[in-house]
Amino acid sequence: MNVGLETLTARRQPRRHGHTESEITRRLIEAIFEERLPPGERITESQLAETFEVSRSVVRLSMSKLSEIGVFKKTPNLGYTIAAPTRSEARMMLDLRQMIEPEMVRKIAKANTDADVQSLWEHLDAENKARECSDRSTLVRLSGEFHLKLAECSRNVYLVQMLTQLQVLTCLAILVHAEREVGCPRDEHSKIVQAIADHDGNRAAEEMKHHLQHIAEELQLDVQRNEPSLESAFQWLSRSQRQEI
Ligand SMILES: [Zn+2]
Repeated sequence: MNVGLETLTARRQPRRHGHTESEITRRLIEAIFEERLPPGERITESQLAETFEVSRSVVRLSMSKLSEIGVFKKTPNLGYTIAAPTRSEARMMLDLRQMIEPEMVRKIAKANTDADVQSLWEHLDAENKARECSDRSTLVRLSGEFHLKLAECSRNVYLVQMLTQLQVLTCLAILVHAEREVGCPRDEHSKIVQAIADHDGNRAAEEMKHHLQHIAEELQLDVQRNEPSLESAFQWLSRSQRQEI
């Protein structure tokens, strides 16, 4: 398993029936990467405790951690729901990724080891294998994890944590907003790795900018659309009520 998720879930927790809190957190993040958890759906402690065969207190720790990073939303009396990022939240995430990831790969291109480059090519091989086998869930997960793999090459644990959060939330935003399948095209990832292997920081940064721009375009975040809100709904309801009177 990649260091990204391990870092996020590194705190030691008591083991119960083979699953620790960090393992549960990691599995839930993997499930989101594989687009298996539906955004906006309610998720309960008892469901997860039963699924992982652990006590609710172990599950509660994991849910609370995912809630801290915005992946689960906690509502008083209602419990937890899986986040369903709005369009403006998705835009902010992609903006932040544009600020971080091009500079990250520029730095990696300047200082990387042969082992880093080898592990990135191996990751792309795994992506290609999943693509050839039409294993969509694995491909979607590996595509997301590619960005975390890059963060690991930076050897900055804070960057790994931040990108894990942004990547998980981007996956949920894609599920909510993309009108068709959005993925990371194979040639875009390989162009980034080639630039890193060539120690060409400027080219790596440009390739990453282009790649993130591509994801934002697929999400159509620049198209102005009205997002439903309770406030505007109440305004509309009060107007229609006055007209009836
Ligand atoms: Zn990508």
